[in-house]
Amino acid sequence: MTLRGRLTSAFLVVVLGPVLLGSIFVALTVGAVSRERTAERLDHAATTVSAAVSAFCRQLQAVADAVAVVPATERAAVADQLIDRGLATAVRVTGPDQRAAQTPTPRAVIAQNRGNSRGEAPELGWQNCAGPAGSAVTALAATAYASDVTVIAAQRVDDVLLRRLGEAGGVSVTLSAPTGSGAPEANGGSGAPETSAGSDAREAGAAPTGSGAEGGGGDAVRTLVAEPGQPLPLTLAVPVADPTLRYAMLLLIVLVTAAVAIVAARWLARSTTRPLGDLAWAADRVANGDLDTRVPIPRPDELGRLAGTFNRMTRELQSYVQALTASRDQLRRHLAILGDTLSSTHDLDRILPVILRTAMTATGARAGLLLLAEPDGRLAVRCGAGLTGEWDVPAAELAQRRLVAGRGVLGTVAATGSPLRGASGPAPDEPACESYLAVPICAPPDIEDGEGEPGTLGVLALYDRLGSSSFDDADLRTLRTFAGQAGVAVHNVRVHEEAQRLSLTDPLTGLWNYRYLREVLWREVERASRFGRMLTVLVLDLDHFKEVNDTYGHTAGDLVLGEFARRVRLGLREVDVAFRQGGEEFVVLLPETDAYGGVIVAERLGAAVRDWPVPIDPRRPDLDDHVSITVSIGIAVFPEHGNTAQEVLDAADQALYAAKNAGRDTYRLAERRTFDRAGATTGGPQPPRQARGR
Ligand code: GH3
Ligand code: MG
Ligand code: MG
Repeated sequence: MTLRGRLTSAFLVVVLGPVLLGSIFVALTVGAVSRERTAERLDHAATTVSAAVSAFCRQLQAVADAVAVVPATERAAVADQLIDRGLATAVRVTGPDQRAAQTPTPRAVIAQNRGNSRGEAPELGWQNCAGPAGSAVTALAATAYASDVTVIAAQRVDDVLLRRLGEAGGVSVTLSAPTGSGAPEANGGSGAPETSAGSDAREAGAAPTGSGAEGGGGDAVRTLVAEPGQPLPLTLAVPVADPTLRYAMLLLIVLVTAAVAIVAARWLARSTTRPLGDLAWAADRVANGDLDTRVPIPRPDELGRLAGTFNRMTRELQSYVQALTASRDQLRRHLAILGDTLSSTHDLDRILPVILRTAMTATGARAGLLLLAEPDGRLAVRCGAGLTGEWDVPAAELAQRRLVAGRGVLGTVAATGSPLRGASGPAPDEPACESYLAVPICAPPDIEDGEGEPGTLGVLALYDRLGSSSFDDADLRTLRTFAGQAGVAVHNVRVHEEAQRLSLTDPLTGLWNYRYLREVLWREVERASRFGRMLTVLVLDLDHFKEVNDTYGHTAGDLVLGEFARRVRLGLREVDVAFRQGGEEFVVLLPETDAYGGVIVAERLGAAVRDWPVPIDPRRPDLDDHVSITVSIGIAVFPEHGNTAQEVLDAADQALYAAKNAGRDTYRLAERRTFDRAGATTGGPQPPRQARGR
């Protein structure tokens, strides 16, 4: 059963149940109450009517007594007066000889109702108040005895009297038919009641009163039998209402109430369950992802508040999801940039800021700082973002800052390799903040395991998480992930740099190799050309080096080559670059140096080789343990001796050839260029030397 059905049923049970029970109770009790009230009414009427009849009797007795006690001559006048006052309708005075007659016959009527003929007085059916009723009662009578006469006062029993009795009791009163057969009657003439009639009355009084009996016309009747004090046989009747109409009304009320209750129950159930149905529908839509769903707010009641709360919850859920989606998209973009950056470059200056930015986005940090350890143990700031105060400086200035390992929060993280988290500014010479999180940047684990190095590569630190007081464990895990990325990136870059260095370096002498010579020479010529500067190129070749090998062995030759390279490096400026071109042939580039400067360097290098023989371990005791070597040097200057890198190099080669020809252990400057007919340039009359054992 649905909620609506349950609510309807409950309402009907609550409302209709009492109505039906009450109706049944009313239907059951209303008949009994009506009968009781009728009986009570008849009882009351019987008492009242009996009292009224008794009062009439006492009144008649008083009239009779009054007539009897007055002198005979005044009796007629007194009787008239009493009749005039309505205390009796007739007074009869009889002689004493008639007192004992069984059927009294009036001898004289001395007075009767004024203006009425004597024939109107009832001659039969005078009912003595003290006696039982006879048949055909026409009047009530009371008897008084004087010394000479008997006085009978009578009151006619007619419709008027019966109506007055009925009005006194609130019922309709009629004379009953006499019950006993052969009941004594008043005599045919004046009918004075006799005591014998009392026995009849007593018999009649023994008859059942017939209380509560209903007449044929829907009336309830009560029969009063004649008895002393109330000598009239009377029937009292009250109308009894027809109960059918009452029951019909009751049924109608019940049916109307039921109809109203059903309509009200349906309306109430529907108005209660409809908002719930709307809510269920909306919740289903929200569960399916439609966060735009809203429900109408019917009324400001509990269901209205529930609907309002649902709408607010959905709204906040929607904004929360939107914020999450935006944050996810932003993080996704940053991760894509990070992935692209990591895969496309080995430039730490591009990789590290991207890692820092992505870590800040992922954790919601306000600011961040990334530092890398230097060979001297200090921490160099590589990049920062969102920094304020003293740290809000240009990137170039930021990159100059150094922190000491082991000191402060960042130094401690670098020294211990353990992350640190706090709720207030970390250290005086570090960025001020309310909360911070710093993790070490470490090389990939397999590298550490294999090498025992390089340990902590740097520190990644975040400051002040937006919207929250401090960083939590989830932020720590996230930052560790990005620190791992940074560690891999730094490690890869360093490996790459090392590999590149190795690929460009001559392992025997530690000088740059021929490959790198070409790259640097071409770059330097380009730069000198652009800025209008000069560049001097020296080509050096050890003299008779084959003999050294032959005499002292190849190993000693290698030793001599290494020592020669060391002396060349020592004899140069920091900006000068030395290369091993091949074999025992070397090249030195002297940026922003003219021919004069080149000659000075050539002399210095020649002297450095010549003046100090190279100590070796001789294989034969007869040999000297120092090898004296000399070097021949050719000098060419850009743009004086060549417009391109190759031309300058060729010019220097030719100058070297000239120096060899000049007896070795000397230097020669390239000859000035001359233009041939075709416009091509050449360094001089001598052809360039071919390959010389590279
Ligand atoms: P010159 O004065 O004409 O230059 O005579 P040279 O003997 O130096 O010239 P040459 O080109 O005939 O000989 C070069 C020698 O250098 C040949 C080779 O044995 C030696 N040499 C070349 N490279 C190396 C090397 O890497 N190690 C050693 N030990 N010897 C080398
Ligand atoms: Mg050579
Ligand atoms: Mg040589």
